[in-house]
Amino acid sequence: MAKFIFVTGGVTSSLGKGIIAASLAKLLQARGLRATIQKFDPYINVDPGTLNPYEHGECYVTDDGAETDLDLGHYERFLNIATSQANNVTTGRIYQTVINKERAGDYLGKTVQVVPHITDEIKRRMLQLGEGDKYDIVITEIGGTVGDIESLPFIEAVRQLQWELPEEDCLVVHLTLIPYLRAAKELKTKPTQHSVRMLSQEGVHPDIIVCRTEKPLNFELRRKIALFCNVKTEAVIEAADAPTIYEVPLAMMREKLDLICLKKLGITQYNEPELARWKEFLDKLKYPKTSVSIGLIGKYVELQDAYKSILEAFVHAGALNECKVNVVNVHSEHITPSNAHEKLGHLDGLLVAPGFGQRGIEGKIVAIQYARETGLPFFGICLGMQMSVIEFARNVIGLKKAHSTEMDPETPEPVIDMMEEQKKIKAMGGTMRLGAYPCDLKEGSLAHRIYGSAHISERHRHRWEFNSAYATQFEEAGMVLSGLNPETGLVEVVELPNHPFFIGVQYHPELKSTVEAPAPLFVHFVAAARRFAERRETPVGVKKELI
Ligand code: GLN
Repeated sequence: MAKFIFVTGGVTSSLGKGIIAASLAKLLQARGLRATIQKFDPYINVDPGTLNPYEHGECYVTDDGAETDLDLGHYERFLNIATSQANNVTTGRIYQTVINKERAGDYLGKTVQVVPHITDEIKRRMLQLGEGDKYDIVITEIGGTVGDIESLPFIEAVRQLQWELPEEDCLVVHLTLIPYLRAAKELKTKPTQHSVRMLSQEGVHPDIIVCRTEKPLNFELRRKIALFCNVKTEAVIEAADAPTIYEVPLAMMREKLDLICLKKLGITQYNEPELARWKEFLDKLKYPKTSVSIGLIGKYVELQDAYKSILEAFVHAGALNECKVNVVNVHSEHITPSNAHEKLGHLDGLLVAPGFGQRGIEGKIVAIQYARETGLPFFGICLGMQMSVIEFARNVIGLKKAHSTEMDPETPEPVIDMMEEQKKIKAMGGTMRLGAYPCDLKEGSLAHRIYGSAHISERHRHRWEFNSAYATQFEEAGMVLSGLNPETGLVEVVELPNHPFFIGVQYHPELKSTVEAPAPLFVHFVAAARRFAERRETPVGVKKELI
């Protein structure tokens, strides 16, 4: 049986519990332990798939097709291991399970209550990943802030487990904020004291307190926090603001967070941390040799979290290329044929983002036309790929009214159409084409050269697809349909060979990009942008050169 670490948060939200949890897991992994992370979210949606990115940021999709919280993305990027449905549980899912059991008669004769039925289901799921001999340590992040009404059953479940599990098998890390009062020139510990008191009132006593802070915590402050919060002084950990999230594991190592956890958990068998590759990545990230500007064309660009995995994939790919990637947010609604050059002319690459619905669509199509005609490297993901197909149909094949039936159900030229199996689906939650599917790449295509393999697997989240009835027309006009699903023939990749770099993918390669294994498409896209930047002094035109 594995050992369990629970991570709770207090004072305010957005303190970065996910990054602290991922950093701790990374350090434990670097010491040779098998660690995994799961996230419990207190909202009532069964999963975040039905949440608007404005509400909750990006929806992260796992190999097994779960629509999950974006923190799972951090877990995968840090640990380089795949997560699954079991790694993300919401209040909605807990209640759904309990209510389904009640309807099936599993509790016949009993009153079904929050305690013990809901808390038992939470505990069952908290312990589940620790079963079998897969992991030595399971880290569980509890979403929300201590004191919230909705997180109470989760905290109660942690309380019960703290009592039920052997002392050495469980510990609680509480993350708080130590605000700096500029007027008083002082760091203030009171909010942390209150937050720990609140947690204690709910019956959970933290073993370690991680303090987010702008200024260093001196020994006196650490002692004060330790005294008032009833933990050892060495268990008060400073988590200073870091220039990049990828620095946090090293900062936590300097604070000995991993060693304190191992001691409390009674684990004596571990190695010196093996972080050579991680440090190499950080060095490249910190000291780039060149830089490129890549336009991210989307409709949620003002919200960083909406495209989290894409932004992080650029960090990984940039480091590998020793190139700083400046992502320039371009709102698709603001691009028109008359301002395209002004908005896009200074860029070295164009990424058209995933998305849903009508808003900003025509701007995306204009941007793609600009990239296609000027030789600007182009990379389209999901909706971005679909828009590149529409642009090509309209402006190259001459199907002026071409569209996707998502935006125009009556279009006479449905070059993007709803997938057959999707047409009968009415329910919204978890019903898209989700998760990993295989894809075969055409020998000699750009995609094939980028992946270095003819058989790949990538993750999906969509309802519409390239309408294969148009395949011949596209191929005759010069678009290569270079990636197909081996079973259904669904078009997964399109590309233009007479362009320096023009590729659209129906899947989401950003979801599999990690520090140790950056997504190949991002790596080669950044390389193409670099070459474009080097050559941008000379007049642009469609160049035949390929990678
Ligand atoms: N809206 C499109 C579809 O459902 C694209 C989805 C996406 O970009 N994730 O097919």
